[in-house]
Amino acid sequence: MKKLWPLLLLFIAACQQKEQKKEYNADLLIKNAVIYTVDSNFTTAQCLVVTAGKIVAVGDSSFQTKYTAREVVNASGHAIYPGFIDAHAHFYKYGLGLQQANLKGLTNWQAIVDTVSSFAKQNTDGWLIGYGWDQNLWKNKQFPDKAKLDSLFPERPVLLSRVDGHAAIANQAALNIAGIKPGQTITGGVIETIKGKLTGVLIDNAVGIVNRKIPPPDDTIASHAFLDGQRNCFADGLTTVADCGEPYSLINTIAELQHTGGLKIRIFMMLGDRPENYDYLFKHGAYKTPGLDVCCFKMYADGALGSRGACLLQPYADQKNWKGFLLSSPQHFLEVAQKVYAHGFQLATHAIGDSANRVILKIYASILKGKNDRRWRIEHAQIIDPGDFSIFGQYNIIPSVQPTHATSDMYWAGKRLGPQRLKSAYAYKQLLNENGWLPLGTDFPVENINPIYTFYAAVERKDLKGYPANGFQPENAITREQALRGITIWAAKAQFEEKEKGSIEPGKYADFVILNNDIMKINGADLPKVKVLQTYVNGEKVYEKK
Ligand SMILES: [Zn+2]
Repeated sequence: MKKLWPLLLLFIAACQQKEQKKEYNADLLIKNAVIYTVDSNFTTAQCLVVTAGKIVAVGDSSFQTKYTAREVVNASGHAIYPGFIDAHAHFYKYGLGLQQANLKGLTNWQAIVDTVSSFAKQNTDGWLIGYGWDQNLWKNKQFPDKAKLDSLFPERPVLLSRVDGHAAIANQAALNIAGIKPGQTITGGVIETIKGKLTGVLIDNAVGIVNRKIPPPDDTIASHAFLDGQRNCFADGLTTVADCGEPYSLINTIAELQHTGGLKIRIFMMLGDRPENYDYLFKHGAYKTPGLDVCCFKMYADGALGSRGACLLQPYADQKNWKGFLLSSPQHFLEVAQKVYAHGFQLATHAIGDSANRVILKIYASILKGKNDRRWRIEHAQIIDPGDFSIFGQYNIIPSVQPTHATSDMYWAGKRLGPQRLKSAYAYKQLLNENGWLPLGTDFPVENINPIYTFYAAVERKDLKGYPANGFQPENAITREQALRGITIWAAKAQFEEKEKGSIEPGKYADFVILNNDIMKINGADLPKVKVLQTYVNGEKVYEKK
């Protein structure tokens, strides 16, 4: 009997352990919710269970008795959606922008100069970098010139980027560092010279000449950029963001910050069209962790419509004999596409104008040959010749679009394009119909990061002022279900991640958001007011509204 005692004790201990395990068979249980699972049947549920960062069960209230979770959250009837995904954004640039002079929304050049001056007083060293001006918001709508910047900052280099990132203004000190001379030309860009003098305005590839002279942000700035960006994204319910067109060196920076620096947002990073990026990824293969996915390259076919850098088939309606331009030769795009295809990677190309879109569609088609699952993408797909829409469907080319671009550009896009071409611009429903799915994004920092604004613009085709009353080209509005899929599962699919995220289904990451109102049900006009109450990534609450 004596000898049995230890065994008995062991047995009791084992039972207790089992008992304890049974007491907590999940980490987190959310109850009393209206859960839009965004599964293939678009089902709703009331209860959701999370263990070890993954969703283990989604269903009705009977789960409340089946599971005993360490933490129980009563959602009090609020709506829950899969964590929002932005299919096209510039996450790092956005974060860096938060460290720079913010020129967004300023309605005249003097206000911009004043903002830069006060920024300069707080940041006394090195380059003065600002971001976000938009001459379309000014009375005269003309590009500025650098005179005021030169007199205020004769020694200190200044570079201020336009809101679309496709134009900038530099002062003389910056132009000197970059070695730019009056009358200088560059392929795929413009160095504006008027009456033999540099105005400081640089368009597309010309911006790069100055940009490359700016010392790269040090580790502290980079980590501030990522973490500040993440904080704002979580507050708006984003759990995955794209970061389009980055250098491969950022892979390590991000991986390190995700490992030890508190960076929790998931990132889908496209590498930019640079030889070293191809060399790196072709040699090392796709990079994939739960937080970072690098399997895609991004090219730029043309510029933006606002700065008349979009490449059009026919001249601009508001500038004679001007059609914009391609940023590289079609031969370059073809060669890139061939090598990316041969190495099995994804390709995404920025194309705004109908000519740029046609060039890229034809190149893609010549390589993809027919139906396929390579998910090659055209970013923006903004102006499409009516005869070219069908190429998207025929070759499964994925248009990746930004509904708030339509409602930001609608005030002047017609001036650039004329009424005829405008009809097949920002044609999201028509594009959706081609493949039956459509990833949505914002292109932030070009637009606001808020994915609910994307949802609202996609379904209502109105801006935050509620303009226009009937929606801009409302025939291209998409349904709420489609818009929700666009910012969740379809965005995930555009990055080959639909099996791990984008819906609330067992086995997927527990990335989800609780909103204060149900975006599937409330009045369209109330959509922009909807707020995120809580955001979860990997089952962890990363944001809570105060
Ligand atoms: Zn972009």
